[in-house]
Amino acid sequence: MSFFEHRNGVLHAEGVALPAIAERFGTPTYVYSRAAIVSAFRGYRDALAGRKALVCYAMKANSNLAVLDLLAREGAGFDIVSGGELARVIAAGGDPGKVVFSGVGKSEAEIEAALKAGILCFNMESVPELERIDAVAKRLGVKAPVSVRVNPDVDAKTHPYISTGLKDNKFGVAYEHTLDLYRDAARRPNIEVVGIDCHIGSQITEVAPYVDAAERVLALVDTLEREGIVLHHIDFGGGLGITYDDETPPATGELIRALVERVEAHGHGGKTLMFEPGRSIVGNAGLLVTKVEFMKRGETRNFAIVDAAMNDLARPAMYEAWHGVQAIAAPAGAGERVDIVGPVCESGDWLARDRELALAPGDLIAVMSAGAYGMSMASNYNTRGRAAEVMVDGDAVHLIRRRETPADLFALESRLPG
Ligand SMILES: *Cc1c(COP(=O)(O)O)cnc(C)c1O
Repeated sequence: MSFFEHRNGVLHAEGVALPAIAERFGTPTYVYSRAAIVSAFRGYRDALAGRKALVCYAMKANSNLAVLDLLAREGAGFDIVSGGELARVIAAGGDPGKVVFSGVGKSEAEIEAALKAGILCFNMESVPELERIDAVAKRLGVKAPVSVRVNPDVDAKTHPYISTGLKDNKFGVAYEHTLDLYRDAARRPNIEVVGIDCHIGSQITEVAPYVDAAERVLALVDTLEREGIVLHHIDFGGGLGITYDDETPPATGELIRALVERVEAHGHGGKTLMFEPGRSIVGNAGLLVTKVEFMKRGETRNFAIVDAAMNDLARPAMYEAWHGVQAIAAPAGAGERVDIVGPVCESGDWLARDRELALAPGDLIAVMSAGAYGMSMASNYNTRGRAAEVMVDGDAVHLIRRRETPADLFALESRLPG
């Protein structure tokens, strides 16, 4: 089911016509569908119904407070990668007791804030990190709950920049060092071993790499239990892909059924099963509305210069990512091959290349599947204020982040004295 559809020739988000949003909030604007986010989240929740389970939304995909609030109300936990993200969870009314803290470089201050907030678990990635968490917990007189993020050394068959489960990635603890790290952790009085974690990459469109990784993780769980280290939860990470173009990722339920089958086979069906999805919750639930400023026709290429740029949506410039582009209203003229580019002073500033569209200055277009790693990666490069964000709910539109003004952008800066 799509939450973004053309009706009478005009693209809508749920019940709202996108030109009305552009009129009211300006462009570029990120538009999210509340129903789409909820529906994607429930895909996980429903597939896990009847088991001990927790879905921790990987909020780096889209960390707007309204998105977090919505997911917290659905019962989500959160996968965080910084102290800043923890502050967002708390500000959005999320439960810190459902937070897992990932990332290779947790600072002492971040660990302390997380312990004081009472998070569910630190997903540790190295021996020095264990030592640091232990020291902070000792100083505070508490026990820190930890999991080890195992690097299962499987090929997730995705873009090298978003693959994280191979040996030469910076992420996770090498498989052969995992047992030693658990033994070390289990001996420390200020550490409580609670789980195991893996995350093999992003935009994964097959079940097989997950099952391979799960087998490696479950073998470790078996070994740990034989040594008397009993885990409370198994976290399979995030990374399920979405359809940008013609990808056919498995349905969430299909992935979960395959993993649950392996978990049961190892006799761990009674443990809490956890997931850390980001992209698959919000990716297809958002789009970016932008306006054509100029048509520039060259000898070899034609350009539609729009008012959104790489600072708004970095994925094409960063990973050569493909996003669908749709005209918001029915085109008047004949189509032509165009590149959709922004006004930023970089040749890498493009949003889409070589698309067949009929565009004229003033036309609105939608860059599709932009709900994940869109606004959360946006910058102020070229002193461009970041886009507005709105959440559509049926026929209602809520402004969930106002457009930045130039004054916002230099509010934290000072001129020199004298
Ligand atoms: C980014 C990340 C995720 C989410 O990945 P998606 O591809 O957005 O689902 C989950 N876990 C960890 C540790 C991550 O770094």
